Amino acid sequence: MNKGAAAELRLKPGKERSLARRHPWIYATAVARVSGSPAAGELVAVRAADGRWLAWAAYAPDSLIRARCWSFDEQAQIDCDWLAARVRESVARRARLVEHSNALRLVYGEADLLPGLIVDRYADQLVVQLQSPGVKAHREVLLDSLCQASGCSDVYERSAAETGDARGVLRGREPTAPIRVHEHGLAFRVDVRRGHKTGFYIDQRDNRRLAVELARELAASLKRAPRALNAFCYTGAFSIALARGGAGEVISIDSSADALALGPTHAELNGLNAASLKWRCADVFEELRALRDTAERFDLIVLDPPKFAANHHQVERAARAYKDINWNALRLLQPGGVLMTFSCSGAIGVELFQKIVAGAVIDSGADCAMRARLGPGADHPMLMTHPEGEYLKGLLLQRL
Ligand code: SAH
Repeated sequence: MNKGAAAELRLKPGKERSLARRHPWIYATAVARVSGSPAAGELVAVRAADGRWLAWAAYAPDSLIRARCWSFDEQAQIDCDWLAARVRESVARRARLVEHSNALRLVYGEADLLPGLIVDRYADQLVVQLQSPGVKAHREVLLDSLCQASGCSDVYERSAAETGDARGVLRGREPTAPIRVHEHGLAFRVDVRRGHKTGFYIDQRDNRRLAVELARELAASLKRAPRALNAFCYTGAFSIALARGGAGEVISIDSSADALALGPTHAELNGLNAASLKWRCADVFEELRALRDTAERFDLIVLDPPKFAANHHQVERAARAYKDINWNALRLLQPGGVLMTFSCSGAIGVELFQKIVAGAVIDSGADCAMRARLGPGADHPMLMTHPEGEYLKGLLLQRL
């Protein structure tokens, strides 16, 4: 029990229901009053309207999510030891993944019982995103335990990766050059200072490995090198996987020249024939149409667009965009060819995404089988009581 927690957050009548299901967020609209004048990030006892204790949470006075729960156990003592234990356990749960890659997510917010904390590891560099007052208030103890649990001493902050805010060295040295990492036998460079997110799309690790396998499978069944297209390629990680699997030509498209600049570096780093990898700085929506107009065909296509729907209001427009790219991709796909198609919009669930892609299949006139549903790697889990944490979903389709 947290004897020191004087502050209290009292909910409006009926607003305790989501907490009874152990959902960790408390919206401002659910709060009746706050007593004890807690500072940002300070521990508060959350109570139902009738005074019943519900949870320990970190107060966030300026956020629509007014508090994020640390624990639903009244006996839990939320202190430095408690936070350090959560960090240690998060790192320990990923111990086996290190065998496959040294680019991995060590802490994933709610799914690791540390709401608002993201920690990615690239070789010996840690990159953190501190996205809630609760973790910001406990920054030093979290960093101490992270360094201890991981054995790393360099920590870089990329807290609002989307807006470019809050970046810089928190511990150790400045990461000056893109960091070399390995993933299932492939090598990549990650620019943690300027790259997207914390520098790399770690969440696609398993799907890139699948891309290697699919290229191999098609090379064997077609008895020739398959031709591949990687749309929204970023720094070309899927392109490298496809080439490694035996794709004879890989066309990669992205609108970011900075991201594409690492593509040829990756080809060289992996000993691949640079001439077989073609990098195009273009808009995918336009380029897919242009490819169609020139009657190009591919055996393997990867579609991994950015988040088209940032919230529920954007779902309809996003659905049209997903359908458009999938329809155009399907028209470029050879019979027997495979499409790996993804959405990382949390607002679009797996069922809806499947429906959208099915609509594109119908309009394309091509019969397709769904071979698998795809998702992020094991270092990006989802807390069962916090389904909002699910975002990356994909489908593996084969044209019949
Ligand atoms: N598959 C990649 C990650 C893709 S992230 C990997 O495994 O590393 C999405 C990418 O889409 C980003 O690199 C972004 O620059 C690019 N992008 C966003 N909108 C685009 C558009 N309209 N046309 C082309 N690229 C776009």
